Amino acid sequence: MRILLAEDDSTLARLLRDTLRGAGYAVDIAPDGIEADFLAREGLFDAVILDLGLPRRPGLDVLRDWRATGLDLPVLILTARDAWHEKIEGFRAGADDYLTKPFHAEELLARLSALLRRARGQAPGPLSVGRWRLDEASQEIRPADGPPVALTHFEYRLLRLFLLHPDRVLSRAWLEERLYDESHEGGSNVLEVLVNRLRGKLGRETIQTRRGQGYLFASGAGQP
Ligand code: CA
Repeated sequence: MRILLAEDDSTLARLLRDTLRGAGYAVDIAPDGIEADFLAREGLFDAVILDLGLPRRPGLDVLRDWRATGLDLPVLILTARDAWHEKIEGFRAGADDYLTKPFHAEELLARLSALLRRARGQAPGPLSVGRWRLDEASQEIRPADGPPVALTHFEYRLLRLFLLHPDRVLSRAWLEERLYDESHEGGSNVLEVLVNRLRGKLGRETIQTRRGQGYLFASGAGQP
């Protein structure tokens, strides 16, 4: 999943980016309101973390514009301490949730995870598909009838995308856009390599190749 982080405080932005990446999200940073608006409209992101105090264009303006033009991606706003009116205005402008600075990274991750689930109409809790259950905290996949299987960071990212969209053909481009942010440099984490490593861990039949179309995670694979 790919998150847009609109934050002008570069120290905080880098810190949050590292935290989010550690939790398995691809992250792009927008340092001002105009850039945030531009990037959000590219359609690559699953959610936005939006600081309201942004240069060039205030976060509230940007958010109002998104909602007025039908851009409905989940938005979590970051507000200044003691600025209770910002929270109210933020919700009126179309925010889905908020955090007051300073906050704990753990709380941001918990809220973001809940927000992403709600946006998909899914109940919070472990992500389960077929006989598989993904543990977000330990980044392990657990079959119904066996011990947990450890995943590398990018295997985890990819598998979460598959589990969020089971039994659907996902194109290579769609997957790559959500796996990698603009700073990514490939290497051993290219898509084919990751898919093959996941097949090695979960069984070959779990991820099917649809030639010329992409890949499909078969939710019923391996069921008795
Ligand atoms: Ca700011």
